[in-house]
Amino acid sequence: MDRGALNAPWLQPAIEQLRRAREQGRFPAALLVQDVPGGGGALLAETAAAMALCDETAAPCGACRGCRQLAAGQHPDLYVVTPIEESRQIRVEQVRELVERLSLTSHAGGAAVAILNPAEVMNASAANALLKTLEEPRPGTTLILVTTTPSRLPATILSRCLRLKVCVPARAELLSWLRQERGAGDWESVLAVLGDAPLRAATANVSELAQLRRETFSALQDALAGGLDIPATATRWARADNLELRLACIENWITTRINVAVTAARGAPELRNATHLPAAASAMNIGNLIRLYDVARELTRLLPTPVNKAIAVEQLLWLLRAA
Ligand SMILES: [Zn+2]
Repeated sequence: MDRGALNAPWLQPAIEQLRRAREQGRFPAALLVQDVPGGGGALLAETAAAMALCDETAAPCGACRGCRQLAAGQHPDLYVVTPIEESRQIRVEQVRELVERLSLTSHAGGAAVAILNPAEVMNASAANALLKTLEEPRPGTTLILVTTTPSRLPATILSRCLRLKVCVPARAELLSWLRQERGAGDWESVLAVLGDAPLRAATANVSELAQLRRETFSALQDALAGGLDIPATATRWARADNLELRLACIENWITTRINVAVTAARGAPELRNATHLPAAASAMNIGNLIRLYDVARELTRLLPTPVNKAIAVEQLLWLLRAA
């Protein structure tokens, strides 16, 4: 699905701010888009780039040479810097090359834009190499840094950028936005699994994800009750290409249990100690559930590495059985 075709109303205040700045001839030379996962920061960065590269005052006009080149995906002065795959870093060589090309373009008198996304994976020497361009920006050059964790960027960089914060709407508003953009479906389940990440949700297969969540919840319930073939299930889950989503479902199940346990713990002591309550709802298990959550998170983090997924999932399920 083309996320560019989506209308993301929560980005409008930031876009409006940029539009006014541009009309007043004070479009920023450096922008920091503070995103949340799935919040649409890349979309905001692309819109800002389109404004910077348009020749007209009411930008982006969609009709000028710059706009047409951009729409065709062929603008010669738009540079997008992303991590080198194997290192998962933005490296100093990449930034040096960018700085060189930006200086050539702006010498020629045209506008140039660089988007660095995610910017926080710049290593220290890459950040240093970028700093000089930020300190002495050439006219017509715009640097756009997109990050979900600005705290991982040096203060020297942060202080030179105009910060645009992506604020996603509350859950209820997101649900009606998803229904409007994508039609009916179990969007509650999608947001429960993916978090309030509208652009991730909008590109998800709603019925598949809701089904995956139901199936995972039921298997975990079976595991708790001792009725799940843990090694076979772990192998099957680890082999499938939706393991990351499966783990998101598992995290969702654990947080749901934690909420139940916390609610029970807030209740009267006689309720808390009542033996007739399901074991997993007792306050005694909150610690175990949190440990389990940490293990699931860690496994998600390790997915891009050569970790033995089947063994890791199996350990997670045994831990859950013991919790
Ligand atoms: Zn234009």
